[in-house]
Amino acid sequence: MKLPFNIDLKNKVIVITGAGGVLCGMFSEALALTGAKIALLDLNEQAADVQAKKITECGGIAKAYKCNVLDKENIESVREEILKDFGTCDILINGAGGNNPKATTDEEYFSAENAGKVKSFFDLDKSGVEFVFNLNFLGTLLPTQVFAADMTSKDDASIINISSMNAFTPLTKIPAYSGAKAAISNFTKWLAVYFSKTNIRCNAIAPGFFVTKQNEKLLFNEDGTPTPRTEKILNATPMGRFGNAEELIGTLLFLVSKEASGFVNGVVIPVDGGFSAYSGV
Ligand code: NAD
Repeated sequence: MKLPFNIDLKNKVIVITGAGGVLCGMFSEALALTGAKIALLDLNEQAADVQAKKITECGGIAKAYKCNVLDKENIESVREEILKDFGTCDILINGAGGNNPKATTDEEYFSAENAGKVKSFFDLDKSGVEFVFNLNFLGTLLPTQVFAADMTSKDDASIINISSMNAFTPLTKIPAYSGAKAAISNFTKWLAVYFSKTNIRCNAIAPGFFVTKQNEKLLFNEDGTPTPRTEKILNATPMGRFGNAEELIGTLLFLVSKEASGFVNGVVIPVDGGFSAYSGV
């Protein structure tokens, strides 16, 4: 991997949740190239370990930790381990998040004809909605409580949350995920104000649409032609293409660098090829 520009984060400790996943795995690799020590936290320890090994094999400093972002005691004990291995956290990236099929409708619009035959809004399962709100919102709040406590006395610290396009305008079928990501954008601003008398800045990235291994099958048919959802996404993206996940890295480096963005606080930056700017007309 080659960074779009270099920043120096030598001796900084960066804690990344969801680091075994597609986007935060890549963020971990990118940030390791700045010289920082990377703590990769994930419920899926094996996935985090694979990413950590990739980094150490290239000469970077990284370690994987099994961590459930919904279990505060667990996060606290992981903080103790990181303290022994690397020191206190300077930069926290709250990346763990996701949706759940139990909180997703089958169709975009209510249709009386299909009632009872498809999963409609009325069939959404409370446990699915709770899962999505907890993972995205509490899963950002709890690690922030634990790690930001060590950041309040630092002269340069930063929190990055991961929002989404659906925080600006909800996407069809996924009301809980949309609401939970709207809460993340809102919480990002709340944290920025709350910590503004310290040297902690808090900002968020709102990724647009990226093809990853996870969503490839939803976006493209086996013969490589786009699915109907892909056509809708691309029609709503003025640049007319999906993003490459690496295109998020420049924004990430900008936000974590005090030299580059020292007066940027409480923003949610869309990286979306113009999706959130376009009304469709
Ligand atoms: P991903 O599913 O590849 O990674 C998420 C990671 O979080 C997984 O490794 C998973 O094991 C981990 N995780 C789940 N529950 C956890 C828990 N309780 N504790 C700790 N770890 C847990 O997802 P991704 O596509 O890399 O997305 C990363 C972030 O970006 C998420 O917040 C997602 O909502 C957001 N996002 C992604 C996209 C996209 O296009 N992929 C777009 C907008 C926003």
